[in-house]
Amino acid sequence: MSLTDLQGVGPKLAAKMNALGISQVTDLLFHLPGRYEDRTRIHPIGSCRPGQRVLIEGRIEHSAIVRGRRSMLVVVLSDGTGRITLRFFHFRVYQKQQLAAGTRLRCFGEVRAGFQGLEMVHPGYQRLTGQGHEPVADRLTPVYPSAEGLGQKNWLRVTDQALALMRRGQLELEELLPETLLGQLKMPSLTDALDYIHRPPPDADVAALVLKDHPSQKRLALEELLAHNLSMQKLRRIQRARIAPAMPVGAGVENDFMQRLPFELTGAQQRVAGEILSDLKRTKPMLRLLHGDVGSGKTVIAALAALRATGSGYQTAITAPTELLAEQHLRVFSDWFEPLGIHPVWLSGKVTGTKRSLALQRINDGAEVVIGTHALMQKGVDFQRLGLVIVDEQHRFGVDQRMNLLQKGGTGDQQAHQLIMTATPIPRTLAMTAYAGMDVSVIDELPPGRKPVTTVVMSNERRREVIRRVAKACAKGQQAYWVCTLIEESGLIEAQAAEDVAGDLHKDLHDLNIGLIHGRLKPAEKQQIMDAFKAGDIHLLVATTVIEVGVDVPNASLMIIENAERLGLAQLHQLRGRVGRGSSQSSCVLMYNPPLGDLARQRMEIMRETADGFRIAEKDLELRGPGDVLGTRQTGMLLFRVADLARDAGLLKMIPASAATLMKQHPEQVDKLIRRWVGDASRFAGV
Ligand code: ADP
Ligand code: MG
Repeated sequence: MSLTDLQGVGPKLAAKMNALGISQVTDLLFHLPGRYEDRTRIHPIGSCRPGQRVLIEGRIEHSAIVRGRRSMLVVVLSDGTGRITLRFFHFRVYQKQQLAAGTRLRCFGEVRAGFQGLEMVHPGYQRLTGQGHEPVADRLTPVYPSAEGLGQKNWLRVTDQALALMRRGQLELEELLPETLLGQLKMPSLTDALDYIHRPPPDADVAALVLKDHPSQKRLALEELLAHNLSMQKLRRIQRARIAPAMPVGAGVENDFMQRLPFELTGAQQRVAGEILSDLKRTKPMLRLLHGDVGSGKTVIAALAALRATGSGYQTAITAPTELLAEQHLRVFSDWFEPLGIHPVWLSGKVTGTKRSLALQRINDGAEVVIGTHALMQKGVDFQRLGLVIVDEQHRFGVDQRMNLLQKGGTGDQQAHQLIMTATPIPRTLAMTAYAGMDVSVIDELPPGRKPVTTVVMSNERRREVIRRVAKACAKGQQAYWVCTLIEESGLIEAQAAEDVAGDLHKDLHDLNIGLIHGRLKPAEKQQIMDAFKAGDIHLLVATTVIEVGVDVPNASLMIIENAERLGLAQLHQLRGRVGRGSSQSSCVLMYNPPLGDLARQRMEIMRETADGFRIAEKDLELRGPGDVLGTRQTGMLLFRVADLARDAGLLKMIPASAATLMKQHPEQVDKLIRRWVGDASRFAGV
């Protein structure tokens, strides 16, 4: 059944949902709420704390349009227990009238600590006109992951219909897990689980649902992990049966390269390079995960592998998940390889017209090294002799996408070697289970001479001190990042918050050139700003978490992270990895909004104590326990739709045995499971 068969879904809405990977009605059922909002109780304003997302109700005391760099509608709401300021950056004139003093208002939003006490930015609101008590929701409200132009109302409307069809048995939705397994684990059937997750009943176990720890959620996570495991095993079996090009000798060019390098490889780098190069000698396709902390020097290993392929007459494709990262690779590889007579070809979605035809032609003619984004994985990109595929930061690509690229590595029983690089510090114990069927190499040592980043934790109340610190660092010729974080569905509000911070900082630091980068800028604009920062023209870069991965500006030695208490350890670690790359002593200021909760305090403490990504990951797991509201975003493990490797660590243990049982007793379900969760299974069969 296609989406447009639903009421109120036209081609436009369908296209937007397609972009999120939803093409059929059944896909909607697997588009699960990312979280829930509790609109079942009204919170007294006086007891609200920053960070809470709550329903409040009160009378408007005061409302005014405040003119500044940007006009803002400011409303003060009171309920007798306390006061809160509501801010609207985007408003229409009629809203000023709607929100006049005296109006009774019910709002839902995130409470923040503002300069004048508590505030909410762009809360959802409802004017209360009756005299009595308007009813509140009787159950949790699901909040769906979404994209621009797709409001929650849309999601509720379409999932309502999909669920109704499911309950009437009108959708093709097969139970793929054997009853014995479900019984043994006390887990509900597929349809019961989906029903519960999408529309929790009034008496639902709220705490479990919010922590994603309910049996309904666990059941889906289990099914997904199982499907993933089965697909990896299948991929492995197919690969074993295939033949990869043997790349036996290290040609002179490898030695040339090593001699030109301004540094010696660390022991760990030598070891993993050995592991990879010996894989490449064989006709058995390599399927290896290269695991190394931020800054551990994975790129040079990739370069060595690429040179081995080149020397043996094969092409190498190198892909990264973002334009920013891929371009950085292009620069590094060009610097290294041009002197050796190797000219990397660049291909991204932005390369169009004759430039694109030229790039495609060179790839087809056998260009040695090709670097780009996922554009490399698309149709129409034909390699002549692809021998090695290198994927950086793989957690941002799905297995599905990787298959596309791999298939370009020959026909029939031919197969390219594959190297996957990741900095996601998954604990070793989990990595082995998560990447079933892959060999794992670990760089567990940082290059020498790195000065550890000094990390300090400071309350937002000492903001002025922090600003003075930025001024001092920049006066000495250093550069700094100021990272703004907000947990919001809307990139717009996040971008605005960053803009506001940049504006405020400009008032205090008018001698400095302040740049601003966020996810709403076009790729070209982002690149321009990064270039200016890299060139030293921008002293202070105000950014959202877009700079999380791969950005490399050695002269930046100070990082301020606002609202650090909201971020998970993994994300803080990634962010902090942007400094400490040059020769000067670097520092990182974790700023928090007081009061600091107990878990948040422990997280800050660990960040101060250690810079070891693996230790941080282990701690993260320990602190997060079986469920964490912070969710998948924190680990960056976007590989899974439902499961979270850290949160569902308990499930992982039972996967190998369950997978074996399933293959033995219900082999007919294997491909169906893979197709449901991982992608088109026919592609795993090769050709
Ligand atoms: P990542 O593993 O995060 O991708 P990179 O490959 O970008 O790390 O390396 C980080 C920085 O360290 C780069 O500037 C790189 O040139 C440098 N580097 C890599 N290996 C060494 C080494 N053995 N000695 C000194 N510097 C190194
Ligand atoms: Mg890297």
